[in-house]
Amino acid sequence: MAKIMLCRTTHLVEINGDHTDINDDFIWKIENLIGRDFCFEDILFKLISSNPEVLDTLSDNIGKCSNCGGWTTDSESIYPVGDVSNGAYVNGQLFCDECLPDGHHLKF
Ligand SMILES: [Zn+2]
Repeated sequence: MAKIMLCRTTHLVEINGDHTDINDDFIWKIENLIGRDFCFEDILFKLISSNPEVLDTLSDNIGKCSNCGGWTTDSESIYPVGDVSNGAYVNGQLFCDECLPDGHHLKF
């Protein structure tokens, strides 16, 4: 009897360039690229759901860490973006949990 394992993953898709055409068709293409079904040995990987969400770096709580450039969210705000690396502002600069100064309560 087959065993079933549900693996939830999150992909952060950074779209560079002038993609002003982020419409349903573009999102569908992205979903098919990252959610392609495949087999490895006798294990079947099959996408059963996805929930793409286009974020706006100007209005959504997401930005790049001032130190490493990784995407992070200000987890001390009231609206952190779920599934994005925890982070916080220190002296006006956003840092991810790995780059926050020692002693910060969100330091990883
Ligand atoms: Zn960082």
